[in-house]
Amino acid sequence: MSSNENAKAVRVLILGSGPTGYSAALYAARAELQPVVLTGLQLGGQAALTYTIENYPGFPEGVGGVQLGELFQKHAEHFGAITEFASANKVDLSSRPFKVEADSGNYLADTLIVGTGASPNHLEIPGEEELTGRGVSYCATCDGWFFKDKKVVIVGGGDSALEEGLFITRYASSVTIIHRREEFRASAILQDRARQHPKVNFILDTIVTEIVGSDKVKTLKLKNVKTNDETALETDGVFIFIGHTPNTQMFAGQLDMDDLGYIKVNDKMETNVPGVFAAGEAADPHFRQVVTSAGMGAAAAIQATRFLEAAESKSS
Ligand code: NAP
Repeated sequence: MSSNENAKAVRVLILGSGPTGYSAALYAARAELQPVVLTGLQLGGQAALTYTIENYPGFPEGVGGVQLGELFQKHAEHFGAITEFASANKVDLSSRPFKVEADSGNYLADTLIVGTGASPNHLEIPGEEELTGRGVSYCATCDGWFFKDKKVVIVGGGDSALEEGLFITRYASSVTIIHRREEFRASAILQDRARQHPKVNFILDTIVTEIVGSDKVKTLKLKNVKTNDETALETDGVFIFIGHTPNTQMFAGQLDMDDLGYIKVNDKMETNVPGVFAAGEAADPHFRQVVTSAGMGAAAAIQATRFLEAAESKSS
């Protein structure tokens, strides 16, 4: 790590600006700990990439993902949280205060709350990387508009695939959902809505083996996993929603994780390093909802506050 000279001393440093990060910031700010939030690359986290969130309590008509993110930020800042538009690049958790190197400078943090969330998985098939941004996308809210009156394919069978597929029907002429099994992971309500939508159709028991196109997506090569039949499907775009991987690589070797990279926490959001807490999708392979991430963020901040109180009463 580079020198600690000019490093900013922070009582509570929060990595991530999604529902986890800003809920933690709200609680830490109200405990008068002047938390600093390093936003990461995506202000508002994954929630900000969702067009409408229909299951966050208090919004019976639904709320825009960006709008909810802005409300979280405003609420935390109202009580004194500080936002820095930067990503952390390196951490040293071997002793307190913890050392964090970020685009915005170095920090010495008395406590650290990891709310770095997760990133979309890739199919890792030929053509995917080359055609990303040219018909291949992982964000319907960001890119749906470009597919006005065009044919779109969605890959995946979870809530994200069906929810985002339904969202794209407002632009696309047709939405074909390709799923590798017959049963869906998605909730019954989304399955019903998708089945009833006149623009949505399904190709099941099928995987995409290649995305073909020179400067933009033209065709998908498909394989039926039951019959091994191979076919081709013309499309203007393909949106991939096949789950997420937690953004925790930076903590490898320092924080205990499971095989998939989720940080291990106890029911107090404590990691194996005293003073370091993790919450939201970086530590949650089970729920991954805006409301659960927000709850975990708040719990982490309450625990960080107690940790600081205990550490200070010991030293006084
Ligand atoms: P997910 O639930 O893990 O679903 C991933 C889907 O992608 C599964 O259908 C999976 O197939 C498929 N898949 C995985 N790897 C694949 C591959 N290599 N090739 C083809 N298909 C592949 O992920 P998610 O939909 O992103 O949802 C993540 C979490 O967020 C979930 O807990 C979900 O409930 C939540 N979420 C909730 C809402 C909401 O409540 N409105 C909206 C979005 C997300 P298999 O089924 O065969 O494994």
